[in-house]
Amino acid sequence: MMRHHVHPKDRGLSEAEGKALIDRLEETRSLSRGEWTDLIRGRTPALAEYLFGRARKIRVRHYGTEVYIRGLIEFTNYCRNDCYYCGIRKSNKNAVRYRLTRDQILSCCEKGYRLGFRTFVLQGGEDRWFTEDRMTGIISEIRRRFPDCAITLSIGELSRGSYRRFFEAGADRYLLRHETYDGVHYARLHPETLSASHRQKCLWDLKEIGYQVGTGFMVGSPYQTAENLADDMLFLKELNPQMVGIGPFIPHHDTPFAHMPAGTLELTLFMLGLIRLMLPKVLLPATTALGTIAEDGRERGILAGANVVMPNLSPTEVRENYLLYDNKLCTGDEAAESLKSLDQRFRAIGYHIAISRGDSLNQEIPD
Ligand code: SF4
Repeated sequence: MMRHHVHPKDRGLSEAEGKALIDRLEETRSLSRGEWTDLIRGRTPALAEYLFGRARKIRVRHYGTEVYIRGLIEFTNYCRNDCYYCGIRKSNKNAVRYRLTRDQILSCCEKGYRLGFRTFVLQGGEDRWFTEDRMTGIISEIRRRFPDCAITLSIGELSRGSYRRFFEAGADRYLLRHETYDGVHYARLHPETLSASHRQKCLWDLKEIGYQVGTGFMVGSPYQTAENLADDMLFLKELNPQMVGIGPFIPHHDTPFAHMPAGTLELTLFMLGLIRLMLPKVLLPATTALGTIAEDGRERGILAGANVVMPNLSPTEVRENYLLYDNKLCTGDEAAESLKSLDQRFRAIGYHIAISRGDSLNQEIPD
């Protein structure tokens, strides 16, 4: 029998329908998978403006006009994994590898503290040279020297035992992007040693241990569909993390995805706005990738509801080697040394940088 039902995706979403979905999202903080898909697929510049206005209002209600800063220390670019999109994957023989010593890491923190940072993010590939003992030693020393600072780790998938030990040594927060919720899509971006379900299990472990957890995904990654993004939103809702980092996929020339098209600024901003409405108190960075695809990408991220930036505190001589994707910003206003000019850029749009730990207001109780 012929069916004449026209799916919303085929007829597009009228502006009124789109606005009604955004209103309902603001009110109930959730949508169904089909609604997410329709809204993402049916977005228009007018709907985006409507969404950003709402997102800014919510952001200002909870966080005022402050922008939180995190000092990013990329302490190793060795990695045992081979994610197809990543410039420091182990198969990339052209990557110039480096590891910071414990003393170098500590002096990055010293410098950061002087500049006004009260959160340090230790980010690295999955580098087993940094054993559990070595990492624990570094974390405890940072905790001892900087008792008023938050320590964030971003070092990939580890055992629950390691996560616990680092937490007990003084780490407060952990960033682990889920990248994409859907197992089939995940498998198209990663070798078979990695799985979406294990990644998600790590996130639940981290949460249970007591970390403030950050997750997130790439926007416009190869083969991504609106349904994949809808699943990402449903997963965020369920996990209820303290932070969500999203950025456009940007191809790296020495990876299997070298010739894949990049994600767009437009879709990334739209997703930022949706996340702000769904998780009003979440910490939402305007990521480096956003600043890389457009000169004013970070400001536009802030205007779409973001409230965090993560300038680079790594020693200048290694920054260019932590190249996850092409043309990644690591100097200019992206460098921690340029906080003042970053602050001026934010002031020009009505926001300003705050000197504080910048904890998330999004604790367990969703309100
Ligand atoms: S994305 Fe992370 S885990 Fe994957 S290869 Fe790059 S650094 Fe390693």
